[in-house]
Amino acid sequence: MLTYTTHRLLIIGLGLIGGSFAKALKSRKVVQHVAAYDRHPQECDLGMRLGVIDEAVEDLPSAVQQADVIVLAVPVKAMEAVLKDIQPFLRPTTLLTDVGSTKGHLVQAVRQVFQQIPSGFVPGHPIAGAEKSGVIAADADLFERHKVILTPLPESDPKATLEVARLWQSVGAEVLQMDPYRHDQVLAATSHLPHVLAFSLVDTLAHEEENRDIFRYAAGGFRDFTRIAASDPVMWHDICQANRDAILKQIDQFTSGVARLRSAIAAGDSQAMLGIFSRAKVAREHFSTLLAGSAYSANTQDIDLRIEPGSPLSGQVTIHSDRSISHRAIIIGALSEGVTDIEGFFEGEDSLMTIKAFREMGVVIEGPHQGSVRIYGVGLQGLQPPKGPLYLGKSETSLQLLTGLLVAQSFSTEVFVDEALSQQSLLSTLMSLRTMGAKIDSNEQGGPPFRISPSILKGAEIELPHASAQVKSSVLLAGLYAQGQTCLKTNRFCRDHTERMLKSFGYPLSESEEAGEVKTTINSAGTLTATKIRVPGDFSTALMMIAAATLVPQSSLTLTDIGVNPHRTKLLPLLSRMGANIQLTLHKDTGFEPVADIRVTYAQLKGQVFTAEDVACVVYELPFLMVLALFAEGQTLIHLPETLSAKESALILSTVAVLREQGAQLELNGSQLVLTPSALKGGEISDVLPPIVAFAMIVASTRAQQALRIKHSAALLAAYPALVEQLRHAGISIHKESD
Ligand code: NAD
Repeated sequence: MLTYTTHRLLIIGLGLIGGSFAKALKSRKVVQHVAAYDRHPQECDLGMRLGVIDEAVEDLPSAVQQADVIVLAVPVKAMEAVLKDIQPFLRPTTLLTDVGSTKGHLVQAVRQVFQQIPSGFVPGHPIAGAEKSGVIAADADLFERHKVILTPLPESDPKATLEVARLWQSVGAEVLQMDPYRHDQVLAATSHLPHVLAFSLVDTLAHEEENRDIFRYAAGGFRDFTRIAASDPVMWHDICQANRDAILKQIDQFTSGVARLRSAIAAGDSQAMLGIFSRAKVAREHFSTLLAGSAYSANTQDIDLRIEPGSPLSGQVTIHSDRSISHRAIIIGALSEGVTDIEGFFEGEDSLMTIKAFREMGVVIEGPHQGSVRIYGVGLQGLQPPKGPLYLGKSETSLQLLTGLLVAQSFSTEVFVDEALSQQSLLSTLMSLRTMGAKIDSNEQGGPPFRISPSILKGAEIELPHASAQVKSSVLLAGLYAQGQTCLKTNRFCRDHTERMLKSFGYPLSESEEAGEVKTTINSAGTLTATKIRVPGDFSTALMMIAAATLVPQSSLTLTDIGVNPHRTKLLPLLSRMGANIQLTLHKDTGFEPVADIRVTYAQLKGQVFTAEDVACVVYELPFLMVLALFAEGQTLIHLPETLSAKESALILSTVAVLREQGAQLELNGSQLVLTPSALKGGEISDVLPPIVAFAMIVASTRAQQALRIKHSAALLAAYPALVEQLRHAGISIHKESD
């Protein structure tokens, strides 16, 4: 068995990259001795004077014999000649690696020179550089927080790979592994093509006399775009030869992209131009977050919310628009014929994911700009295959609904999500869609990533034991494409935003209720016609303010333009039974969703008994009822429905736990919740709560004994960017704080 040690390291080619690696290793004392050889001896002399290396090699064969590690840092075209020079003197335990910008060419050269790949050979490529050359430009920190791609071969000894990785990590680099040929394709697109374009653009402009002024008055954009045209011409000549085929493929693809843009400009085709620009903008933003090594959310900093108790809520407040309706407006608008204008679109992280997904499937979407979005619908059959896997972040709504839509498309798709959502099981959705013939591969728990293949869907009768708006919506979207009728049966009503949205785009579907069974039927015979959508205010956020205004003495608050879909407002009669003072003034022209102004004033509540039937349709809003019950006169008894979904049970348990921690007296006996009036202490909550439970704790904090700090609220604020401003506007004393 071979073991690899790294006492003596030899760099061949002491330029920018070789010199920087030598300097980084030496300054961090990673190896005992760094020697270098260069075909220009003056580079090594300079390296000695600058303290970059310990030894300037004159006798290459003997230096090769003594070296534990050899790093080839010469231009890629010179690699083969160097390999021939060193091959006779290389020991079997010597590690051989390189820093070249292309890999396939080097692997070929090693095969030719050595006949077979030595086990100590591990090709590498640091993704770091500068538009400078020579050891004079050596920088000991060049690789800090940069990536290095290693491309070990099947013949490479894993221990050798580990040792090369260790060397790079010890100079601050992040090490990745990739197949050498894949490396060349990826780099052709991400590095080689941009360099070729920058060289070509500057060269083209420089040739034209009338363009001289461009250089004189060059704006930031031109300077940024062409910075890399100052790179070493010989190096780029070599790279273009070494990675010829992959680069040519990228140039061809780019050329046809430019041709498409050219004809859009020539024809004055605004839709095509905006499509290209807005898709590119979103993709660039996505890349920036990836390049920054951060999560998709811009909110990577940990943020706490601190709420002071006691401030009454008052005045007239407009709150952010409805999340669920915003998602659906994008989806149905994209599938419709014609141009849909949306006003009041909710610009949260989740609904933006839905926009991104449709842009990736070829739909041109302008905005959002201050809540306005324009969608150029492509019709039910007009979606195009996305260029790569669809990433849906933390948006469960996008995931559920798009899965139903994607199973019906004529192309395959891969869907992946943020780590936080990947634990989620969508078994109920997957089972329903599979009954219709859908082909979806998921992880073992029924969660993403999903691999969805095309199939001919057939309408079916589907019973949902737990009424869920998301599952129902997913099946309805699949039903738009399925042969025959799709009929969904549930034992209770749940939100019907998808049904209302489909109807407002002119799509027929029927709903009925018989003996406690709710039936929704759809078939694929209809078309969707573009329309105008005004998204009303979000009822869930309104409910938080209604509950807080009910709790805090002297409150008198009016919430304007709130969506009051009857399947969302079922908690209000229960609050009224407890003595809450809530009045709805319905707008006359209600459009597809009923809209109202809601006025609420402080009231002393009284404990009540609620049956399972009372609360069957408000399980997701129960955290609010539980908090209010703790401040009522007398006990409150809530009988929970016998059949709760896993998500509903988790929500109740999470609320019980956090309220108990706050000092609440509440018992959960089987399906009975007994709540006794209690003082809540405030202080700190450090568990990350589901959004609705966090909302309920904001309500609780308005009557707590001291200020409450809800820690780790960054994800909540990414989902509801305007939350703090709107609560403050209503009078709640709430602040964002970072550690
Ligand atoms: P450089 O011109 O600064 O250094 C190359 C050195 O190799 C020169 O000193 C040259 O004299 C020497 N050399 C050339 N042929 C030789 C031979 N046959 N024997 C011995 N020495 C020889 O170039 P660089 O930017 O350091 O690039 C070196 C390698 O790093 C290239 O393979 C390049 O693809 C790769 N690379 C460069 C960058 C970058 O941004 N510059 C980034 C990543 C990888």
